[in-house]
Amino acid sequence: MAVEKTLSIIKPDGVAKNIIGKIISRFESQGFCIAAMRMQKLSLQEAEGFYAEHRERAFFADLVKYMTSGPVILMVLEGEDAVAKNREIMGATDPKKAAEGTLRRDFADSIEANVVHGSDSPQSACREVSYFFRKSEILRPCCGGQCGCKS
Ligand code: ATP
Ligand code: MG
Repeated sequence: MAVEKTLSIIKPDGVAKNIIGKIISRFESQGFCIAAMRMQKLSLQEAEGFYAEHRERAFFADLVKYMTSGPVILMVLEGEDAVAKNREIMGATDPKKAAEGTLRRDFADSIEANVVHGSDSPQSACREVSYFFRKSEILRPCCGGQCGCKS
């Protein structure tokens, strides 16, 4: 299995619920290294650009409003098979459909306010990591330069 980087966001509801530590603890205890991290309030343009693939969806305006409603935690997670593993730890988009023991099942309120974001493929992980982090801000290249991501 390849060592990968993936972008994780603790969304505004996760920050507001004071569960930042609980969420990060799940990632660390399941073998991830946090390679970069910061708290930020996304601008409208940043949120729109980040979720551009959903621009035509009926929920897009609400999604952007929600993602800019308070600070988020942006993180680069690194580990073996990080993209798929992070999605497993997060659970399905709709918390009602998320498996037991997943972050969304345990902490999310709705299909919109679902606590965390995770890149959905190695390609989107590369785009998303470089959308929010310069190379110089990724302070723990735990893989020793072995990951596929060039940026
Ligand atoms: P994310 O990209 O945030 O990790 P995801 O990949 O599980 O979530 P997507 O289909 O990419 O799900 O949707 C992006 C986000 O848009 C969801 O996480 C959720 O916040 C919101 N969303 C998705 N579907 C709906 C919906 N039907 N109604 C309201 N909001 C939705
Ligand atoms: Mg998605």
